[in-house]
Amino acid sequence: MTTNILDGKALAEQLRTSFKERVSTLTALGQRPGLVVILVGEDAASQVYVRNKVNACEAAGMLSEKVVYPVDVDPAVVLARIAQLNADCRIHGILVQLPLPRHFDEAAILAAIAAEKDVDGFHAENVGALAQGQPRFIPCTPYGVMKMLEHAGIDPSGKEAVIVGRSNIVGKPMALLLLAKGATVTICHSKTRDLGFHTRRADILVAAVGKARMIGGDMIKPGAVVIDVGINRLPDGKLCGDVDFASCAQTAALITPVPGGVGPMTIAMLLANTIEAAERLAQRSPAPRRKVA
Ligand code: NDP
Repeated sequence: MTTNILDGKALAEQLRTSFKERVSTLTALGQRPGLVVILVGEDAASQVYVRNKVNACEAAGMLSEKVVYPVDVDPAVVLARIAQLNADCRIHGILVQLPLPRHFDEAAILAAIAAEKDVDGFHAENVGALAQGQPRFIPCTPYGVMKMLEHAGIDPSGKEAVIVGRSNIVGKPMALLLLAKGATVTICHSKTRDLGFHTRRADILVAAVGKARMIGGDMIKPGAVVIDVGINRLPDGKLCGDVDFASCAQTAALITPVPGGVGPMTIAMLLANTIEAAERLAQRSPAPRRKVA
């Protein structure tokens, strides 16, 4: 049996339980945290992700709503709905499930979300704040990875961190967060020559590619902490990560499983960001004092 597992599912459950008190406090102040998730189209994986997000909000006592549009919807309709939600004081977080259909300008949609409601942390203002080392909303997946490292007592300072993948939603923000914690960071991607040369140097390896089991046991350093962000569906319907768990678990000091690793943490951090958004609003506009008779 593998004993060196970084159990994201258990940590996410702990966090979600701890959120309930913050949600109750905010609800009593008239600021029940509210999240709206917008889904365009019928992509099966996206439908599952959206359902999980909405269910997690409800379980924590938050307000949550799913808005679904057909795949051929006019982007102007989605923009108009975002504008409406930006002005809705019951809603603290707005999330547009990515990827969007091809006829959408993804950047324009993300830019339309009010920065203070951008709980995914993808708005250019929030990306800039993160790059400057003063994050407002940290993108949920890398945020979840940092929480897992912190919980396991892993201090990135002085360590070699290698990230495979350079997407805006995982690889790049992951690099910024590890850099901010003092790691020496290398980002690999599809043009990287000799990927194994880099991955074998990693004290902390984060795989965020989307290719089933592409990181084998011979590509990691003995004693490394291996974080598998990838979610891939195998022909038999089962899920697996970008890391070959069976071979890497022999060599790694700590390793995240798929499922049950980074995925549940991503959802927990989405809740954290939405609660944080509601707390910020509550601080800016405290509930009116009751008159004393
Ligand atoms: P993207 O497709 O946006 O990015 C993939 C990255 O992998 C790109 O930077 C690409 O390089 C790089 N890449 C592709 N092939 C190789 C290769 N052979 N060697 C090295 N690098 C390569 O994916 P995302 O970042 O959105 O997601 C990555 C994975 O994480 C997916 O499986 C996704 O489902 C999963 N995911 C999981 C989440 C969770 O909660 N657990 C949340 C978000 C994503 P290049 O830029 O050069 O094309």
